[in-house]
Amino acid sequence: MTGIRETIARIADKYGANDHEQRDRILHAFNIADQAHAGQLRKAGDPYIIHPAAVADIVSEMGLDADSVIAALLHDTVEDTELPLTFIKKQFGNTVAEMVDGLTKLSSIQYQSKEEAEMENLRKMLIAMAKDIRVIMIKIADRLHNMRTIRAIPERRQQEISLETMEIYAPIAHRLGMTKYRHEMEDLALQILDPVGYKEITDFIAGHQMEGQMFLDHICNMTKEKLAENEIPCKVVGRVKHVYSIYRKAYGQHKELDELYDIYAIRVIVDTQNDCYNALGLVHTIFKPMPGRFKDYISTPKPNLYQSLHTTVIGREGMPFEIQIRTHEMHHTAEYGIAAHWKYKQGLGGQNDSLDEKLDWVRHLLESQEDTDAQDFIQNLKIDMYADGIYVFTPKGDVISLPAAATPVDFAYAIHSQVGNRMIGCKINSRIATIDTPLQNGDIVEVITGPVGRGPSRDWLVIAKTNQAKNKIRQWFKKERFEENLEQGKELLEAALKRSGLSSELLDHELICSELPSRFSFKSMNDLLAGVGYGGVTVLRVVNRIADMAAKLDRRPVTDEEAVNRIVSTNQSPRRRSESGVLIDGFNSVKIKFARCCTPVPGDDIIGFITRGSGASVHRRNCVNIKSLIRSGTEDSQRVLPAEWDVLAGRNFTATVQLYANDRTGLVADIAGMMANMHVAIQSIAARKLPDGFARVDMTLSVENTRELTTICEKLRNVRGVTNISRDSQ
Ligand code: MN
Repeated sequence: MTGIRETIARIADKYGANDHEQRDRILHAFNIADQAHAGQLRKAGDPYIIHPAAVADIVSEMGLDADSVIAALLHDTVEDTELPLTFIKKQFGNTVAEMVDGLTKLSSIQYQSKEEAEMENLRKMLIAMAKDIRVIMIKIADRLHNMRTIRAIPERRQQEISLETMEIYAPIAHRLGMTKYRHEMEDLALQILDPVGYKEITDFIAGHQMEGQMFLDHICNMTKEKLAENEIPCKVVGRVKHVYSIYRKAYGQHKELDELYDIYAIRVIVDTQNDCYNALGLVHTIFKPMPGRFKDYISTPKPNLYQSLHTTVIGREGMPFEIQIRTHEMHHTAEYGIAAHWKYKQGLGGQNDSLDEKLDWVRHLLESQEDTDAQDFIQNLKIDMYADGIYVFTPKGDVISLPAAATPVDFAYAIHSQVGNRMIGCKINSRIATIDTPLQNGDIVEVITGPVGRGPSRDWLVIAKTNQAKNKIRQWFKKERFEENLEQGKELLEAALKRSGLSSELLDHELICSELPSRFSFKSMNDLLAGVGYGGVTVLRVVNRIADMAAKLDRRPVTDEEAVNRIVSTNQSPRRRSESGVLIDGFNSVKIKFARCCTPVPGDDIIGFITRGSGASVHRRNCVNIKSLIRSGTEDSQRVLPAEWDVLAGRNFTATVQLYANDRTGLVADIAGMMANMHVAIQSIAARKLPDGFARVDMTLSVENTRELTTICEKLRNVRGVTNISRDSQ
């Protein structure tokens, strides 16, 4: 306990240095929390107060204000003790009370499952965060301390919490630029989720400790000397990258640890922005830069505020390593992200405008969430969080920031919903392109629009990658096509009920009509049916819910005759050719999609992955995503099932190939010509210059099977200048 009192005294002194009142408030908050949690123990047997005190310590380290420290001290009181929120409001004011409220889980509502409850809580927190960003920073501190002490809780819980940390909190920290905390959370979570993989990497690093240190010392000294010669004051630090980043590279790119060169890096910290560029020039005179690996995040900061110069150079014995060059202030922002800006830029009124802009993604995320239920919401959140940003340009030169893999559809809706709704085509870098082409950093995109009132197509829901675009598309369908949606939703639902052996009369059942819509946040049965029609909620989930409710309605025992009929009707459906061309073990009627990451075609070794809510996706067995999923050993990995092709000849499938070539005029024309000669349909083709005189061409083709694809690739290899062809979109 003495340790805690010292910590609190240190924090109170820090905030009280210029303002005695803050000192007293912090001590007061500690005393209240201490009393409220009195007698409560943490799982490890320590007094509970250790936790809020540690969270307050992290919040203080982040550089947040006294109100945030106070909210951190009190963050678990309302949830876990008798202390009412009104008391906190009276003692510490509205701001603190609102923050504590944002950090308190919902308790009044009963949820179907623990999962659903957790998702609703997360949504609540994000809404609080959109109002006051400090809430999420405190939550990150809370989660970090829980991760640091995770060994005390049961193993199953450890896994759940680690997975949530990896999927939600680390990506949020990433989006807020809080790299220091993100890295620590990722490494702690990885240790639980894949202890074997974690150990493999730490063992490797430990095994190479001596040579690694020598290598780093050598390049650090060379760099220091060179900069000193030129009178640039600097700090040079060598480091081993964090375990999870090595893990991701090793398993994501199928590399042996020995082949990985991105383990070591050095960081050069200088005084001014000018010195950054000067230092860059100098390190390039002592080490040979690797072409195409230079990135200037100073002139174009990342969406999470990160600024730095990156270059990869070749060191002694041909060993490449990364150099990051930045100023002290940039370094602080690189570690603490938005929290650093909070400290430096905070006016008395709270958030400033530029900070506000940086938080636009939170707002987009929450926009029109009223119609999505928690599960969709979290799914969307995960997608948006994982995505790294790219910048693309309008023809006038305005910058639009989008997640990686965003398409022209996302771009159009990011400009304005009217532009999106009227889009009929697009040009990327002045060339006509299909609207599902993944955009690349720096692309100039022009949207071609048609007359008003044409509207989006339902396929766009698949093409769009951002929630912003998806929501706007759904809104259009919702508004413009209510009757049509209603009819389509009803048809879809009736058909799905029939397939599940349920009566479509259930849709008229009094109890279902009154309870079902609100389960999906709809006001009436008609709204729900229309929601199914425009894709606001998936059929499968509605059917599952109806099945649950029907089971409760119908508690009477099943007669023998009925039982036999059911078995016969499910087993007897003859093994007919599946519509999709794939049979997944045990799931004959699910909706099947082909994964866009690896575009399997007949002849590929495949597996099925049961997606939450919307059927199954088929991946190649050697797909990077699937391999890392299986390796993760998490619950998700149990949703991978054996699959086989079941397809008649003459049907075409989509395959993507990437082709690298020495860039030259006529390259794309030659490729397109060769495809035409072979009677191969090109669904899309996009070429992009790479910095070092190379070009990358991404093509989507229609092919019957792997044999045809192999023949095509062999022919493509003969096109002048082509150096490499692959099917991995990594
Ligand atoms: Mn807590």
